[in-house]
Amino acid sequence: MSPSRPCAHLAELPDPEPAAATDGCPHCAELGQRSVALRRCAHCGHVGCCDSTPGRRAAEHHKRTGHGVMRGHEPGESGRWCYEDRRLV
Ligand SMILES: [Zn+2]
Ligand SMILES: [Zn+2]
Ligand SMILES: [Zn+2]
Repeated sequence: MSPSRPCAHLAELPDPEPAAATDGCPHCAELGQRSVALRRCAHCGHVGCCDSTPGRRAAEHHKRTGHGVMRGHEPGESGRWCYEDRRLV
């Protein structure tokens, strides 16, 4: 598998990208936990915490919905990560 193969999931993203559905991770807010490294789903705007928090909501969202591409939702962070391809896209 060539590492330069483009991520096929980018073609499935809505244009324009949906706005964030919530300010932070609703799951973390419920538990009173601090969310770390939020990720925003590029498919639907769902906001969830990343794998370095106990909630792992972004990964859970991917499993539940099949949405693969998440964008960093922290100030100054705009990189996109594809859960299917397991790399930055
Ligand atoms: Zn992909
Ligand atoms: Zn969370
Ligand atoms: Zn989504």
